[in-house]
Amino acid sequence: MSFAQEILDRVKAKDPAQPEFHQAVMEVVNSLELVLERHPEYRAQKVIERIIEPERVILFRVPWVDDQGEVQVNRGFRIEMNSAIGPYKGGLRFHPSVNLGILKFLAFEQVFKNSLTTLPMGGGKGGSDFDPKGKSDNEVMRFCQSFMAELFRHIGPNTDVPAGDIGVGAREIGYMFGMYKKLRNEFTGVLTGKGLNWGGSLIRPQATGYGSVYFAAEMLKTRGETLEGKTCLVSGSGNVAQYTIEKILHLGGIPVTISDSNGYIYDPEGINHDKLKYIMELKNIRRGRVSEYADKFKSATYTPADPKLSYNPLWNHKAHCAFPSATQNEINGKDANNLIKNGVYVVSEGANMPTTPEGVDIYLDEKILYGPGKAANAGGVSVSGLEMSQNSMRYGWTSEEVDNRLQIIMKSIHQNCYETAEKFGTPGNYVNGANIAGFLKVANAMIDLGVV
Ligand code: GLU
Repeated sequence: MSFAQEILDRVKAKDPAQPEFHQAVMEVVNSLELVLERHPEYRAQKVIERIIEPERVILFRVPWVDDQGEVQVNRGFRIEMNSAIGPYKGGLRFHPSVNLGILKFLAFEQVFKNSLTTLPMGGGKGGSDFDPKGKSDNEVMRFCQSFMAELFRHIGPNTDVPAGDIGVGAREIGYMFGMYKKLRNEFTGVLTGKGLNWGGSLIRPQATGYGSVYFAAEMLKTRGETLEGKTCLVSGSGNVAQYTIEKILHLGGIPVTISDSNGYIYDPEGINHDKLKYIMELKNIRRGRVSEYADKFKSATYTPADPKLSYNPLWNHKAHCAFPSATQNEINGKDANNLIKNGVYVVSEGANMPTTPEGVDIYLDEKILYGPGKAANAGGVSVSGLEMSQNSMRYGWTSEEVDNRLQIIMKSIHQNCYETAEKFGTPGNYVNGANIAGFLKVANAMIDLGVV
């Protein structure tokens, strides 16, 4: 039996109900077989066995009172996965699907992603099964305050620095930061993604989307191409999707889709800057649904999500590039085949683990330019790292300065993945490149720090 299979069997036996975590571990450990052959010290030191076990898991009750005066109870989590190269760092996700397995997969991915950023950040993730959709501002505030009334004792600017993820944006970060500040009586950079007036960084909202497009541009550069004139499929309509669309437009590409959990929009005339402005107002201010886009712009069609379909029709349009920016496992094997059939040869993942293992195998077999999430979407957490630096300095950089640093970081992540894939005998395979390069920095630090 291969070492990867042995590890996976053990993980499954220990935590049978965590399929997303199994999936994330399997992908990384498969890539690492190439490393373990050359470096027996990692096996001797049981680095893999240690790296898949969170350093600490915090699970807590989050009681709050809704607008009807009724008591609600949610579950809160923080997974402190690995602190070998810096304080735990990673987002909080508020979504009804949140459970321990999903947060462990996200925390595990975060360890490798953060290692790739070149910045000193360990990996963590947290959140709650709370659903912000349809809740009033006051309900969201009471929930966030209750969540932080427990989390505050576990985090700190040099210990664990949470940020946003699905369902957690500037509003939620604000309510949580306010509560943290009150309880600790100190103003520190304990959260990132803060508002500009209270310690946030310019370009943080843009960073994940911009970064994922910069990564695609770097991949295209290896073939002497650019994004100019390329049709792009984008899923999602939140912060990542919005700024992915904006950067595609800056670089001359043509974004034609957006989606939410109810359905998707296809606009063959392209989503231009004016239409993007409309989307931002619709999603960020009115908190509406994407179906409204088709009422406003007649060139667009809206297709409601159909759970009976075995594929997602969003991925079945003629295009050159795909930017999955919604959620995990949104592209299955059938979708990946549809992408290839429709001419897509660049996939840059703004979401975390949006492609199933079957889908990833298809990309790799077809040798398309495929940037896995832990490399392609690392721009978000990178600018979070820059926010931490600015907070420590009590100073703020200009947009140009931050964007410039973001571009340098994305280039260096691309180069590191590209060269590592080549060095380990799988040229062009950014999955192996990202997993191995991300692993080596953390693994070497863990060995230096001893068995702790
Ligand atoms: N949730 C984002 C991610 O998946 C950002 C994390 C952060 O900024 O700490 O990387």
